[in-house]
Amino acid sequence: MRPPRPPAPTDVSATLRIELQGRKIEARLTVPAGPVKPQAALPAIQSLVNAVVDSAERATAAAGKPVSCRKGCGACCRQLVPVSDVEAHALRALVDAMPAERKARVEARFSAAAETLQAAGLKEFLLNPRRLPTDDSQGLGFRYFEQRLDCPFLEDEACSIHPDRPLVCREYLVTSPAANCSAIEAAELAPVEIPKLSALARTMTDPGGDVAARWTALALALPWVAANPDSAALKPGPAWINAFLDRLNRNATGQPVAGSAATG
Ligand code: SF4
Repeated sequence: MRPPRPPAPTDVSATLRIELQGRKIEARLTVPAGPVKPQAALPAIQSLVNAVVDSAERATAAAGKPVSCRKGCGACCRQLVPVSDVEAHALRALVDAMPAERKARVEARFSAAAETLQAAGLKEFLLNPRRLPTDDSQGLGFRYFEQRLDCPFLEDEACSIHPDRPLVCREYLVTSPAANCSAIEAAELAPVEIPKLSALARTMTDPGGDVAARWTALALALPWVAANPDSAALKPGPAWINAFLDRLNRNATGQPVAGSAATG
């Protein structure tokens, strides 16, 4: 794992201590102090998700069910991966920063993915999940998986953007045999139970928003960004994090899910 970027003089840091699903989580969060787009706060949320995932991984190992995911197994990278508007814009910027040859290669994979999803009749829903019937999300996942579509960032069965991968990619771990992930229609999967902070992070730019509607497919992130220019406001980095933590503290039932304390 790439070490976190060293704090810049204009950054502020805090240690966040929360309890999620009975487990104590501690993460050091660093954000720019001044007004920034929400993408600049994403690394801090990635740090928090990493801490949550590490804690879940330790707990499942201690319970005698170690995680079976290994580098070189990219089976889950052919599943439908939902990313937020903020993550889609961050991925666009990541691709734009690649050397020209690699950028062209990755963009070509995105174009091919869009064509495959268009031919399968899935592209329209995936670019705008609000149009999806509410009871069809699992069916959509299976139809997507049937395309056997590699994530545009999958290279040699490994994630080529591992330090920058979306939040939901971090949260997907299994204890079942790797082979089962290649046949999710038929085989039993045993995912590790991990609080889905990625879903809450979809509302960074719309704190009251519906997490079920605020995503697009990772494989369509570039065309999604082309159709949805970045209109997010500039806010101080801590304001983005506080809004996310507020949302974290209000789960679907309105009950607090975390007792939190942040210290500088
Ligand atoms: S971003 Fe990386 S981890 Fe996520 S689906 Fe793509 S290749 Fe897999």
